[in-house]
Amino acid sequence: MGYEDTWRRSVDEPEAFWGEQAKLIDWQVPPRHILDQSNPPFRRWFVGGTTNLCHNAVDRHLEARGDQLAIVAVSTETGTTREISYRELHHEVNAFAAVMQALGVGKGDRVVIYLPNIAEAVFAMLACARIGAIHSVVFGGFAAHNLALRIDDAEPTLLICADAGMRGGKVIPYKPLVDAALKEAKAPPPHVLVVNRGLDPTMAVVEGRDVDYAVQREAHLGATVPVAWLESNEPSYLLYTSGTTGKPKGVQRDVGGYAVALALSMTTIFDLQPGQVILCTSDVGWAVGHSYNVYGPLLGGCTAILYEGMPTNPDPGIWWKLCEQYGVRTMFSSPTGIRILKKQDEAWLKKYDLSALRWIFLAGEPLDQPTYEWLSGGTGKTVIDNYWQTETGWPALSLMPGLDMRPVKPGSPGFPTFGYRMRVIDDATGEDKAPGEKGVLVIEPPLPPGCLTTIWRDDARYARSYFGHFKELLYSSLDWAVRDADGYTFILGRTDDVINVAGHRLGTREIEESVATLGAVAEVAVVGIADELKGQLPAVFATLKQGVTDHPADVARAMERRVVELLGALARPGCVFVVGALPKTRSGKLLRRSLQALLQGTDPGDLSTLDDPSSLEEVRKAIARGP
Ligand code: ATP
Ligand code: MG
Repeated sequence: MGYEDTWRRSVDEPEAFWGEQAKLIDWQVPPRHILDQSNPPFRRWFVGGTTNLCHNAVDRHLEARGDQLAIVAVSTETGTTREISYRELHHEVNAFAAVMQALGVGKGDRVVIYLPNIAEAVFAMLACARIGAIHSVVFGGFAAHNLALRIDDAEPTLLICADAGMRGGKVIPYKPLVDAALKEAKAPPPHVLVVNRGLDPTMAVVEGRDVDYAVQREAHLGATVPVAWLESNEPSYLLYTSGTTGKPKGVQRDVGGYAVALALSMTTIFDLQPGQVILCTSDVGWAVGHSYNVYGPLLGGCTAILYEGMPTNPDPGIWWKLCEQYGVRTMFSSPTGIRILKKQDEAWLKKYDLSALRWIFLAGEPLDQPTYEWLSGGTGKTVIDNYWQTETGWPALSLMPGLDMRPVKPGSPGFPTFGYRMRVIDDATGEDKAPGEKGVLVIEPPLPPGCLTTIWRDDARYARSYFGHFKELLYSSLDWAVRDADGYTFILGRTDDVINVAGHRLGTREIEESVATLGAVAEVAVVGIADELKGQLPAVFATLKQGVTDHPADVARAMERRVVELLGALARPGCVFVVGALPKTRSGKLLRRSLQALLQGTDPGDLSTLDDPSSLEEVRKAIARGP
């Protein structure tokens, strides 16, 4: 069966379809019901089935592929590479689980993991899964206050951290942030398990509270910890959204649905068979990292490359070098990551032998056409945009080279994946939009397996935030979309990113894309500013590529001309600012609302996920200087 038939079956006969997919994983007790929708907007998949993520990701492969590499942890920061087979992974995870049990962690307890993108983070996550503890991974390098907020939300029994991370050769101590966060937290955990990498010799140790992982590991090596069989709908982990639109939401994931959805995605979407290699450049702190640095590849019996370092260090060829070295078949990155490389010489794309590489997937933000063309042209590879959310846990819109590859339409992530019945509707009337008309993207319940089950300890916020926007019970994260006559969906940004010029609604993305076609422009963000006459006008903020020598004022005028040329006089920017950096979330998403607030002197809302405060300072100065 091709895409169309398979997808149709997945939404028309969900129980039959997902009942078959359930066989992709091991169950201790098979599910009693495939789907329970008795309490909408909640839904439960594979009810009564008991399973375990660690068993399916590790133990299940021992017989057939014990000696195959499971994880290759590469750090260009510390200059180390660790090649870990499935057997070694099993060994490490058992030891880690035994350490956690000795520290009082049991089933249902929360464990906050605050580690860099290193092998121990994978061990810790899988060890939690093994004993039924609920992990909450906090992106390493989030400030103490963010960490404290997440500790307060999860109320963990244990916190696992490193002495330090590294970025661009600079040591970034983590432990002082942990100490500060635990002072601020209302109910700090009794123990902190420290993975001491020897990066920060000045690290302070709190006697009685801090425990050294290396010592504990030594004491528990060789231990066998039985897996805890969990009912399919019990929580596996908590993970926060990026906070682009406001206060991050604590997404809660289940066990069985997540495992089945990821296993299915590995072969059909990512076109990976057991034994094949994936390089996912995300970080374990993000949803993509959870699903495709760790759980997906391991559930699929693949080899996952875990990368700690910058895309440009030691040089901008590092990702391609890893592709050559390990025979990577599928690569997964983000438009933001590729735009960093795009500032550099294109020759890096051709330096290594990429003959094993088939697909480059990009997710997380709209993939602009210039970036798409630069990457696909430079590598000669198929670049696949895919759309998802922390909430969905796996791609919701994508092309599926593992099932039947359809032609790429640049700018579109393609078609709904299994179980996603999507519509594009009018935000006011709730009526379906015709092809070519813009509207809000919604998902008809039930959400497929793999998606969030609720917001941690806040069912009401789950119902309100995702299902409370329309008369009908429809899920939406308020992204703005249009579907073309061939059924391809294009994401136009978020509904609050729409600019209303004299009654015409322009997506920020359209304007950004037209600005980005100028060769001098590296990155661009567009927001709306209030205008007495027209309601709103677009304001453009852009950074220039390295080595551009044109006068910023000339480039600004060229941007203005380009927008008018491509979109018409209606879209003419009210002001253009050339800045040194744009404000982004920690996960690399443009924080447009902070730009808008600076321009208009309004409240920017929750800025706790802002990556680099100095970028806002630069914008402030640029605004003060005037466009
Ligand atoms: P918050 O929900 O806290 O405001 P966030 O929505 O940025 O933050 P994530 O879950 O990290 O948190 O991001 C999901 C969002 O990212 C999507 O709703 C969409 O707006 C955007 N996105 C992801 N992939 C794509 C894509 N391929 N094309 C366009 N937009 C995308
Ligand atoms: Mg969101």
